[in-house]
Amino acid sequence: MSGPEGIGAELYRWIANLYPICRSITGRGVRETLGRLADLLPLTIHEVPSGTRVLDWTVPMEWNIRDAWVKSARGERVIDFQRSNLHVVSYSRPVRARLSLAQLKGHLVTLPEHPDWIPYRTTYYTEEWGFCLSHRQFLELQDDEYEVCVDASLEPGHLSYGECVLPGETDEEVLISSHICHPSLCNDNLSGVVIAAFLGRQLAARARRYTYRLLFAPGTIGAITWLAINESRVGRIAHGLVLTCLGDGGRPSYKKSRRGNATIDRAVAHVLAARGGDHEVLDFSPSGYDERQYCSPGFDLPVGRLSRTLPGGFPEYHTSADNLDLVRPPALADSFALCVEVLELLDANRSYLSQSPRGEPQLGRRGLYHSRGGGPQEAEELAMLWVLNLADGRHSLLDIAERSRLPFGAIGRAAERLAAHGLLSEVGR
Ligand code: ZN
Repeated sequence: MSGPEGIGAELYRWIANLYPICRSITGRGVRETLGRLADLLPLTIHEVPSGTRVLDWTVPMEWNIRDAWVKSARGERVIDFQRSNLHVVSYSRPVRARLSLAQLKGHLVTLPEHPDWIPYRTTYYTEEWGFCLSHRQFLELQDDEYEVCVDASLEPGHLSYGECVLPGETDEEVLISSHICHPSLCNDNLSGVVIAAFLGRQLAARARRYTYRLLFAPGTIGAITWLAINESRVGRIAHGLVLTCLGDGGRPSYKKSRRGNATIDRAVAHVLAARGGDHEVLDFSPSGYDERQYCSPGFDLPVGRLSRTLPGGFPEYHTSADNLDLVRPPALADSFALCVEVLELLDANRSYLSQSPRGEPQLGRRGLYHSRGGGPQEAEELAMLWVLNLADGRHSLLDIAERSRLPFGAIGRAAERLAAHGLLSEVGR
């Protein structure tokens, strides 16, 4: 499979494949998802027992659901988990009861403003139960006695997460993290999961300067669990990205790390600007996805978040309309290409020391300079002049790209040419 259309279609097929699985923060759905992802990249699946203390949290009981329904007095399933796993509030405790419509209504959630959509709701840290349904379906409920069943278990078990570590030349790490706790929802977050897995597959097959760590964990509690277990190692994370909502047709958006000026923040902003299309760069805020944990003050890791339309910024968010129609192969391909560009920039970003810093070195003598002005040659020469001038060991290629307002690729190529002629040496080599 080659070309952007090919990758988009392949990513889309993987989303379609994982879409029917009922995931939550623990349980068989997460395990099955991780098991399938292991076909794409070398994934280690970790199991952390319920009750384990992790930072200020405790790994919860494992939740597994077999079936759930609300039946009318005539025995008809008026709400049926088998039709959509969104019908059950995720983590609902097991229940078997007979209720009047008035009693039942206290356990129902709808979206009156989108009467055909089923909302997605969770009750992770309070033992409750509930059903979600379209408002249209809700309005059809008659005054009746209803039989309710949530055939689920909430028992000591494990929290599962997947991790793929790809060693590089250095111990310094690039973290790529995506949450895998949502049931049948596509943009949030199968798009992020599948793009991260494809990045892992691609990285596994090539030479690496950084060590890459790809993390597939349930939102919040998974990131907290991983941080608790790896507390002594997090200092190795040099750059990180949380990937979510990357498959819709909106413009790309990047949420900066808490630091605001980390290399990852500058790298993504530079790539987005150099691509020239519409995009958005936002400052850090303490709401959102797992960047909240990585950027909590006790860690303050250089981790930003890459999305297209912001989570919560599209009406289909956390509803049954975040389905296979919302995510599009061209958007998936574009997001994947954007991630690849950012990772390539990070990998190529380094500092050089000019070997001829007193006066400009004579480039013409080395065939690197042509006296005739104009044309693409002149742009190349300008890039070389910038690199030579700022190759003082203190400026990285990204610093030079920003200061010169030239694309990182042009600066990188200029540095390669100059290094090949012995005019630069890489710092730290
Ligand atoms: Zn979500």
